[in-house]
Amino acid sequence: MEATRIAAVGGAGPLILPRGEHALSRRDIDPDALKILFRLQRLGFTAYLTGGAVRDMLLGRKPKDFDIATNARPNQIRKYFSNAFIIGRRFRLAHIRFRGGKVVEVATFRSDPPPPEVGKAGSASAPLYVFGTPEQDAMRRDITVNALFYDPATASVIDYVGGVADLRQGRIRVIGDACERFREDPVRIWRVIRYAARLGFAVDGEIAAAIRAQRELLGGCSEARLYEEFSKDLLGANARAVFALHREFGILRLLLGRIGEALEGDGRLFAASLTLLAIADAEKEAGRAPGLDELVALLLWPWAEPQLGTGGPDPFPLLKKAFLDAGMVVSLPKGLRAQVIDIMALAGRLLRALGDGNMRWSVRQRPGYAQASRLCFMITQGRVPEEGESFELLFQKAFPGRPPMGGGRPRRRRRRPALPD
Ligand code: ATP
Ligand code: MG
Repeated sequence: MEATRIAAVGGAGPLILPRGEHALSRRDIDPDALKILFRLQRLGFTAYLTGGAVRDMLLGRKPKDFDIATNARPNQIRKYFSNAFIIGRRFRLAHIRFRGGKVVEVATFRSDPPPPEVGKAGSASAPLYVFGTPEQDAMRRDITVNALFYDPATASVIDYVGGVADLRQGRIRVIGDACERFREDPVRIWRVIRYAARLGFAVDGEIAAAIRAQRELLGGCSEARLYEEFSKDLLGANARAVFALHREFGILRLLLGRIGEALEGDGRLFAASLTLLAIADAEKEAGRAPGLDELVALLLWPWAEPQLGTGGPDPFPLLKKAFLDAGMVVSLPKGLRAQVIDIMALAGRLLRALGDGNMRWSVRQRPGYAQASRLCFMITQGRVPEEGESFELLFQKAFPGRPPMGGGRPRRRRRRPALPD
């Protein structure tokens, strides 16, 4: 059977790509997600796999999660699935939870909310979202390759937006008018960059121009959302490519204030960040995902190092102040920020110790030491330590005559002066 367009009233209808004409195999779908899909369909609902799962499987990649779109309403989903929990304030959707922490997101097809009526914007009764048809649901999504549906009953891919062609041609296209869609939700600017970089796809000239014209809008997004996107980029695949493209589009200075300016302004500094992120990307691929604290430290280290200067007795307050003065728009939660500062300040100390042989091993008790010693290893060796390797061994090799770890007179701890947050 050949790919067909199903004629619909008033339009050409979607492109249907039947089994055998795409690379998506039902075997690659998470069995729990597949069970939910079949159960919904048996109950008489329409239910498709959608979003990143369809995109990634069509490209022969392993999806991160499996999202489902259906015409069942949230309360119906809760009725039929005892492990379903309704979440979300703006859009209510169901999370179906499984043992081991797995969650399958099931969202009802919806359409973009109509533009607010003049004079009524923000009125309490204005609907935040409206349920819609599969076509409307595809149209409200961000980019074409994220708006494909997979119907498990027929094993076919359903494409209302030209996403199949864009996947084949390696192209990122915004659905609808890019300027308008970015104005509606500036986070889409970020998402275009993320998926172009992650997938190695091209951003066409018009969209690139729209990004440059409207990137400042990102500064107006909620801090929580920006932090969420920032952590997704660091934790996700191909962070090196993603941050490289953020820099090309001038996004880093918008998000990271002076830190971003330094990284964008100095190619050598930024190349060092990218080298460290590439090491972490390889770790992720090998299934040893580094923590978010370590990943932030990898990105920011080349900026932090010169801030530490000669270190002084206590580099922590110095770094904290530089951090607070940077004017970052992405605001890290306090605990994470403190941990990142600890890691970078400690890494500075360890690097100095590798140079001058003055090592105070009591720093091993400090929070962030494990990450700092790994960071140090990465900076000096260009890779993560393997089994049996460590910062301690690097030090002992460099200074074989020094007292062994834990040696030396115990020192009294100095209190760090408190700084305002
Ligand atoms: P991954 O989870 O692998 O990063 P994804 O495409 O599944 O990729 P999610 O953030 O999980 O990304 O979002 C799921 C889907 O929701 C997207 O594929 C897209 O269709 C839609 N979507 C997400 N954010 C937006 C947005 N800001 N505007 C429009 N659609 C969006
Ligand atoms: Mg997803």
